[in-house]
Amino acid sequence: MPASDPPEWVGKPMRWAQLVLVENDPGQYDRDFWLDYFRRTHSQAVNLSAGGCVAYYPTRIPLHHRSAWMGDSDPFGELVEGCRKLDMVIVARTDPHAVLQEAHDAHPEWIAVDEKGQKRRHWASPERWVTCALGPYNFEFMTGVHKEIISLYRIEGIFINRWAGSGMCYCEHCQRNFRNASGMDLPRTNDPQNPARRAHILWRQQRLFDLWRLWDSEVRKIHPPARVIPNTGGGALSGLDMDQIGQRSDTLFADRQARRGVMTPWAAGKNGKEYRATLGNKPIAGITSVGLEEPYRWKDSVQTGEEIRVWMADGVANGLRPWFTKFSGTLYDERWLKPVEEFYRWHHGAERYLRNTEPLARVAMVYSQQTAWFYGGQQAGRKVEDHTEGFYHALIEARVPFEMVHDRRLQPEGLARFKTLILPNIAALSAAQCEQLRDFVKRGGSLVATLETSLYDEWGAPRKDFGLADVFGATFRGPGEQRMQNSYLKIQRDAGGQFHPLLRGLEDAGRIVNGVQRIEAAARGDYPNPPLTLIPSYPDLPMEEVYPRVPDSGLPGVFLRESGASRVVYFPWDIDRTFWEVMAVDHGKLLRNAVEWVTNEEPPVSVNGAGVLDVTVWRQKDSMTVHLVNLTNPMMMKGPYRELIPAPEQTVRVKLPSGGKAKKVQLLVSAQTPRVQEQPGIVQVTLPSILLHEVIAIDL
Ligand SMILES: [Zn+2]
Repeated sequence: MPASDPPEWVGKPMRWAQLVLVENDPGQYDRDFWLDYFRRTHSQAVNLSAGGCVAYYPTRIPLHHRSAWMGDSDPFGELVEGCRKLDMVIVARTDPHAVLQEAHDAHPEWIAVDEKGQKRRHWASPERWVTCALGPYNFEFMTGVHKEIISLYRIEGIFINRWAGSGMCYCEHCQRNFRNASGMDLPRTNDPQNPARRAHILWRQQRLFDLWRLWDSEVRKIHPPARVIPNTGGGALSGLDMDQIGQRSDTLFADRQARRGVMTPWAAGKNGKEYRATLGNKPIAGITSVGLEEPYRWKDSVQTGEEIRVWMADGVANGLRPWFTKFSGTLYDERWLKPVEEFYRWHHGAERYLRNTEPLARVAMVYSQQTAWFYGGQQAGRKVEDHTEGFYHALIEARVPFEMVHDRRLQPEGLARFKTLILPNIAALSAAQCEQLRDFVKRGGSLVATLETSLYDEWGAPRKDFGLADVFGATFRGPGEQRMQNSYLKIQRDAGGQFHPLLRGLEDAGRIVNGVQRIEAAARGDYPNPPLTLIPSYPDLPMEEVYPRVPDSGLPGVFLRESGASRVVYFPWDIDRTFWEVMAVDHGKLLRNAVEWVTNEEPPVSVNGAGVLDVTVWRQKDSMTVHLVNLTNPMMMKGPYRELIPAPEQTVRVKLPSGGKAKKVQLLVSAQTPRVQEQPGIVQVTLPSILLHEVIAIDL
């Protein structure tokens, strides 16, 4: 995409609405109700269904199926007209992932093919066919659709849902194009160390970036401010390189709509951190579905108001602009309307303090898509993301404000704002990336790393030793144990009989449980008195056999290094992943202490009081804010929230940005007058309680 200034419209909307029409909405749903709801919620931008699976406007493109209910009307155009009167930014929604029989018969080459050579019927709507994302359907047909929509309506952009394919495709185009690009046949294994699979991971991305560039440049030729914004992006497990996405996009929409299964509300905010890692301060909307997001896909369902609110609040606390989405213009259950309206009205009132210019966190956690693609492969959930989630949760419990950093953004300018980087089993790192981290440490930066960090190159091929062996002060000696049973770590005193700060809160423990996986690592130089030492596994049955065979192996359970202002903690075991699985409080303390010890400075904000809070800290043009999202709830790990339960009194100590002085301190949610104490450079605010979300706004 050509480098150019972002169009003026992208920064404007703070609140988004999305209405996804279903085919029989035209002529049946209440358009005026929706326009009124957009107005009442102060929504400044809207995403409206236009084309793809179903066209909601009088398209002239053959095989672009018009809604059978629209007759001669123009449902999309009528909504566009109404939203323009509300001065809203308008982005059309298309979805190219499925076509009807007529298109299948006219263009069999548009259809995705499975590994047995069969054309793929749609899994949920068997009268439809799944399209190939990487061939002429998207490159030709959908290009025409996008050009037509922009020509007819001259709106601000197009958001494309499910544009990246529905799994592996073996159609004739994919076969030929992949062979031309790589000289290989399409892979039939998921092993990322297979050369064809590795090539395909990159080739698919290249095709999708080419497609995005094509769509975007074609609509810009017609209407220069228009942008094509594919539904893409995410964390380590996402398939398209976030580094490139961040460079190409002027704005993006984070599509994690709600919780499913075991998932914490902080997952909403994690999106914000992951996207911001490469988009920087470009606007990012966080999509919240008003419906349940479980595998059974009750798309016409409604969440509890409390669940909608915690999801939106955690997104906003983490820098996302709220976006509500409703599928179907016909409402079967209206209970979501009021909580969304209330939240949006609050957001509108507080808007001045929600236009963040930068986060003030000093700690950042690295995420690595290449580690997921080439080291994690099919096990990336367990081998990669579970480490991140565990460390993330430990930081939430410790109330440490933090950012996330993409592993391709380790240049000095990107890291300058951080004192500490966390590497949760970031196994696959290139020599150049290791060098960037080494330089960060030389500049006085600190690290906390776990397990196999830097033990593989950027392609997931093992190294003989850690790429960061000198930084860790540890050398790789062997793969260790994949699954430890009944193993412990002994709490040790130093030569002077004192406990290291890493052990704060564990002084009386004697020993703590070990993790599940460890690798063998040895100190590179003298390393007397490691604070933790390994007690190897011993039988856990029969009970008569349950006694340690080796009471203390002397093998370090952690490596610590100090050099100038820099401090490094390396855990040669899966402390973060085990914490996510077992939630042992001792592991949470160790992770907290490790981050505090290496960071070794007054934090931008510290919060004292009972409960679980997601704490973030931000700078705006003339102010700063501290967000506190109360996650203290029996439904914290698995929604939906039934009720909001207030957190008790919290004392919040805020470090003012250098040179800053507090002119005014407000609580933006409860609107109470807080108890405030000031010292030079510090504001201390006492909050009597937090129901769900509080924002301390400090005018500077
Ligand atoms: Zn294909």
